[in-house]
Amino acid sequence: MKRRRGTNGRGESGHGEGEKRRRGESSEENHPANERVSDPTHPRVPASPPPRVGSSRVPVSPRPRVDSFLPSKRLGQNFLVDRRVVERILNALGPQGNETIIEIGPGKGALTDLLVERAGRVIAVEFDRNLGPLLDERLASKDNFKLVQDDALQTELCAEIRPATRARLVANLPYNISTAILQRLIAQRECLSEMVVMLQREVVDRMTAPAGSSERGYLSVLVEAYCEASRLFEVAPSAFKPVPKIWSSVVRLTFRQLADTDEELLWQVVSAGFAQKRKTILNNLRNAPEALQQRIKPRGGASIILCQADIQPARRAETLTIEEWRLLTRLLN
Ligand code: SAM
Repeated sequence: MKRRRGTNGRGESGHGEGEKRRRGESSEENHPANERVSDPTHPRVPASPPPRVGSSRVPVSPRPRVDSFLPSKRLGQNFLVDRRVVERILNALGPQGNETIIEIGPGKGALTDLLVERAGRVIAVEFDRNLGPLLDERLASKDNFKLVQDDALQTELCAEIRPATRARLVANLPYNISTAILQRLIAQRECLSEMVVMLQREVVDRMTAPAGSSERGYLSVLVEAYCEASRLFEVAPSAFKPVPKIWSSVVRLTFRQLADTDEELLWQVVSAGFAQKRKTILNNLRNAPEALQQRIKPRGGASIILCQADIQPARRAETLTIEEWRLLTRLLN
């Protein structure tokens, strides 16, 4: 098993600040959990990287046993214990012997164990350094497994999968930062072709909300712009330990071929459109940030642009389809 080593990039081990920091929990306050970013190609990441573990300067924690491991709520550690759910997720993914699969948050290895049996290579990114020894116990002998002990919000996946240039991804995502991780994954789409991920059911509801649904928001448009989303199945709380209060959903996200739109401008327009969800698209575009105003005003103002796009000015952002957002963007380009 390969393990990436290193310090936190500032030449510090970053340790000695108690259990939270040692487990990689300290940067959670910096995690933009479920926070919107205006530019998905540059999602906001924690200001200070978490300690990169595995360095010789890092004190080695006692080797925890699977049964004595204390799950961290802050790291969203609800481990899958229902073998049927594990099988369903892996069957949905269908890993092939000649491909690279990335797993975010392998935890105690519920999915990982079978993944390494079925996939060509498995690159697993886990933030909690206490889980390293547990994964070692199970997977140290597997040549096709690489553990990256890092914050998935910062990991450069395209670099980690080399020499492969594309991979598919599977994850039972930590719910508290699932939106932020999704944004980060979408930003790295150049080396990702498909993802099968388990998320909080409400997040999947928002993610897949069609135009016109009150649940539609920035996340729905972001996912629709880049991915074909298909909801696969629901998972009851009893499939996890500790048992969460919420249901989960497994969703397949297949990356689309990109349309010919100025992506940065698209996200400025979508951001401005959703700035005040209860206001009309006209009002939100009239109050758009200065950079966008400089494109809107010379073209006759927001109502003219909306008229050219055949979008009723009284509509709200949640009713616009991805084609309408792209059309607005082209008119402002
Ligand atoms: N895959 C395992 C399973 O299904 O039983 C564990 C899933 S658990 C819901 C989420 C996992 O993500 C935990 O192992 C947690 O430590 C890890 N995690 C949390 N935040 C992370 C981050 N920022 N980067 C990488 N892994 C993270």
